[in-house]
Amino acid sequence: MKKTVRDISWQGVRALVRCDFNVPLDGDGRITDDTRIRAALPTIEYLADNGARVIIMSHLGRPKGEPKPEYSLKPVAERLSELTGKQVVFAASPVVVDDGVRAKVAALKDGEIALLENVRYRKEETENGKEFSKELASLGDVFVQEAFGTAHRAHSSTAGVAEFLPAVSGFLIEKEVKFLGDAVENPERPFVAIMGGAKVGDKIKVIENLMKKVDTLIIAGGMSYTFFKAMGLEIGTSILDEGSIGLAGELLAKAEKSGVKLLLPVDVVCADEFKNDAKTAVVDRENIPADMMGMDIGPKTVELFGKELKAAKTVVWNGPAGVFEMPEFAKGTRAIAEILAESDAVTVIGGGDSAAAVKGFGLEDKMTHISTGGGASLEFLEGIELPGIAVIQEA
Ligand code: AMP
Repeated sequence: MKKTVRDISWQGVRALVRCDFNVPLDGDGRITDDTRIRAALPTIEYLADNGARVIIMSHLGRPKGEPKPEYSLKPVAERLSELTGKQVVFAASPVVVDDGVRAKVAALKDGEIALLENVRYRKEETENGKEFSKELASLGDVFVQEAFGTAHRAHSSTAGVAEFLPAVSGFLIEKEVKFLGDAVENPERPFVAIMGGAKVGDKIKVIENLMKKVDTLIIAGGMSYTFFKAMGLEIGTSILDEGSIGLAGELLAKAEKSGVKLLLPVDVVCADEFKNDAKTAVVDRENIPADMMGMDIGPKTVELFGKELKAAKTVVWNGPAGVFEMPEFAKGTRAIAEILAESDAVTVIGGGDSAAAVKGFGLEDKMTHISTGGGASLEFLEGIELPGIAVIQEA
């Protein structure tokens, strides 16, 4: 169990909080989606309500170690003021920490909130430079980790500061660790994982780790064609991760040896072109035409996967079952999302595309947990201890 913000008495204490405020901006610098800011509000408000002086750090985009106005966190400070109903002090400097920033932070009263400038204005941030970590740490008394999206990176603001300050988790991190951790380490069984998406190569370590934990592993989406190829099937013009055919074959053999049930699609929706209004055909996986590509799972597959998913008590899902960005080929992904939405099982959705798909279908409230970190949730599922989580003190 990791320490959380609940384990600290905050009155008069300076809380140095790492948030993930890497929000999308339009051409005029306006925030187009403030989900990430809203997600951190419970922690920020808890700290302020309990008398902490709250100093927030975040990155935004990739300014590559230089101050670039288009990556300033100013719009975030303004939105945070609106959302909290408090005047958030934007303690900004092109070098992130200087005497002006120190003075602004020192002037904060209990319950007040300040936001620093984009930590990636300093090149030391992504190098986990010790001096920069020290400068940041000097602004706080306790480090609060609340940025899951960057917890897999050992940067100054995500891990380095914890060398100088005691570290606890915010509510978002607590939830991520609980649901992703419990799902993988202590699942109620049957435990089923569904892996989808484009490339096997990217997810090979996750598949290997999950294979040790699950009762059933379902492979869907673009990566299934590399497995089909390894099985000796013809896949037409479907997406192929050529370099991973051997690996896919090894995984099939491993599953057979270990007794893990590994399910692949049995039928697919093919298209003659990679576009939504392409000519389509539904075929068994043995009959993919030479001039067509698999774009989605077919109805027999939905039934096969559905049976397994309905019997599961824990489901982890990462990666879409088809080219879900095109409505015509989003049906398999939607069917899986709907089955999970109706299920009583613990349903954990890895970040990235499967999270976007579930949100797009309006089913996010029906899942137990949707992870906020794409890369971070994948590394978590690989069984790696994330540097930004490792630094949090044990309770
Ligand atoms: P990933 O980033 O590996 O999770 O892959 C997500 C991407 O995989 C999405 O953009 C999907 O459109 C794509 N994808 C899923 N199924 C297929 C498929 N059958 N053919 C091509 N791309 C696919």
